[in-house]
Amino acid sequence: MSAEVKANVKKLTDELKETHGITPGLAVVIVGDDPASRVYVNNKKKACEAVGFISEEYALPAETTQEELLSLVDTLNNKESINGILVQLPLPKHLDDKAVIEAISPLKDVDAFHAVNVGKIMLGEYDFLPCTPAGVMEMLRSYEIPVEGRECVVIGRSNIVGKPMSMLLLHENGTVTICHSRTKNLAEVCKRADILVAAVGIPGFVKADMVKDGAVVIDVGMDRDENGKLCGDVDFENVKDKCSYITPVPGGVGPMTIATLMKNTLAAENINRIL
Ligand code: NAP
Repeated sequence: MSAEVKANVKKLTDELKETHGITPGLAVVIVGDDPASRVYVNNKKKACEAVGFISEEYALPAETTQEELLSLVDTLNNKESINGILVQLPLPKHLDDKAVIEAISPLKDVDAFHAVNVGKIMLGEYDFLPCTPAGVMEMLRSYEIPVEGRECVVIGRSNIVGKPMSMLLLHENGTVTICHSRTKNLAEVCKRADILVAAVGIPGFVKADMVKDGAVVIDVGMDRDENGKLCGDVDFENVKDKCSYITPVPGGVGPMTIATLMKNTLAAENINRIL
């Protein structure tokens, strides 16, 4: 599916180049040397190249100051060839990630983390959808899995996954429950779900006895098991035979997130051009 989305973005990008001489550009900013962030940034760069975007990487040292980072964001906000700006999180502890996100122009905020875009998501009037939840919704649509009227349970309430995920399911008329670390009887709540989304960050957190027979299970987690191997929040081996659909890790939500980032950057091109 992610390959299909990217192929479509490439086709539209080729057309844009041919008809208007415009190439969308994505700037990715990474501060410090977190190995997981490095992998994510490399994957995003590769995807940009595959769809024909300009890809600019700004790798800053861990000791970069808040002023230096804000100054770079300001430069990118004003750079015409750049349509999308992404600052890879988490930032080193001495930097204020909230202030950095708020400094990105909402028109170039392809992650949809800026308060303006978050507000629009609440209102259902979005320019950009946050990449991970939007990728999940695209999977549901593509497999013709209905959301309307169904019990949807999201485990996790982060600003980047859990909350926007819940909102998108609500906009599709799901009956949505959000669970978190203080939720009581979590297994019982999860067992009600027709669609269960795990965004917890704990390897193998969702066990078979938390899943209803025939449920759709979406695993957002990108965790490491005891051998350092990439795995998800769902105990895949024991859950897979119980549900009607399940996304694997790796190879599920992750690639769809990157494909959605490509869609957002292309959309940003159009938004910037119109305004
Ligand atoms: P996060 O900010 O750490 O949030 C985790 C959420 O899980 C919190 O809301 C937390 O509850 C809840 N939680 C933690 N322990 C729990 C427990 N025992 N029972 C119930 N809820 C519990 O994480 P995130 O940024 O949302 O990411 C979640 C996972 O998704 C991670 O594995 C991350 O790597 C992955 N991720 C993947 C992609 C992708 O592209 N595939 C993108 C983003 C993130 P409280 O709020 O009460 O603390």
